[in-house]
Amino acid sequence: MFASLLRGSELADIQEKVLEGRRLGFEDGMRLYASSDLTAIGTMANIVRERKNGSLAYYVRNQHINYTNICNKFCKFCSFYSLPRDPSAYTLTPEQVQDRVREYLHLPITEIHMVAGINPRLPYRYYLDILRAVKEVRPDVHIKAYTMVELAEICRQAKKPLEEVLPQLMEAGLDSLPGGGAEVFSDRVHRELFPLKQNGDEWLAMARAAHRLGLPSNATLLYGHIEEPEEKVDHLLRLRDLQDETGGFHCYIPLEFHPEKTDLEGLPAATGDDNLKEIAIGRLMLDNFDHIKAFWVMISPQISQAALWYGADDIDGTVMEYEITRDAVTDTRQSLTHSQLMDLIREAGREPVERDNRYRILSRS
Ligand code: SF4
Repeated sequence: MFASLLRGSELADIQEKVLEGRRLGFEDGMRLYASSDLTAIGTMANIVRERKNGSLAYYVRNQHINYTNICNKFCKFCSFYSLPRDPSAYTLTPEQVQDRVREYLHLPITEIHMVAGINPRLPYRYYLDILRAVKEVRPDVHIKAYTMVELAEICRQAKKPLEEVLPQLMEAGLDSLPGGGAEVFSDRVHRELFPLKQNGDEWLAMARAAHRLGLPSNATLLYGHIEEPEEKVDHLLRLRDLQDETGGFHCYIPLEFHPEKTDLEGLPAATGDDNLKEIAIGRLMLDNFDHIKAFWVMISPQISQAALWYGADDIDGTVMEYEITRDAVTDTRQSLTHSQLMDLIREAGREPVERDNRYRILSRS
């Protein structure tokens, strides 16, 4: 049925591979990025998406808590961080973290997503305390917390290696890692945009160590800044290699860069086509990832709906109080109610399914 879809297209041979379930290589990835045939790329990604997940579109009822915006890494693509003396600087105490959790106790939230800047004044104890603080108020909630950047800082504060720190964080309540901080695994981009935090090799080594300890993570890629297609293909292939090795990634999330209020403000913003293409290429290259997420907060609810036909099977969640792009994009709290989220998915022609962090189905409607 699909065999003739791309007849005559420059991508017809890649489609053959996709239909036969064969793995795509570096050159295939480069050709996908070079092609302007978004319909063909999306059609192929949708084949893989439906093969793996049918028409299901997963979502989670979640709450984001960004416990501090103070950061000493000065990434050029970041509009979130503050210096300690800035009027906007804040750090939540464990009690304030609990207050944030209590604010939404009336909602059946199943996941708390906690990430922040790197505030060098926070001791090791703090990172354990805020995990315990969340679990004290919501014992059954899944805590997904700490990017690899934060984990490196936690190890520095603890003066212990990751292999010793992770079990202690898990004991305090950490259930999985969000996978942020990967940006693009390119030494060139690392040098130019975020030289003060770990590079791609270090990020991958930390993910490997976490997966080996039974701590799953997600994987991300930040696109739409100075990265080149070959750097993105390399990034995807390195994620795929690690997934072959550990199986520890739950899903892949391409993250759109928003230039507003960053050091890269002059760069053009990604378009809707860019967003859909990134999702579709991720779906095609990462054949060993079960799930691809369209993070609606970053790419808009509308583009997320289309993304459900371009490879994405997950639309993230209700996302109460996401601060990372709040200032730059809308300057408002970003959240959707449960019914808005379900309507969004249904209007897109997909079947909404509430999931837990491991993609176990909690409810279908
Ligand atoms: S991206 Fe993260 S590590 Fe980099 S400056 Fe922003 S908050 Fe800090």
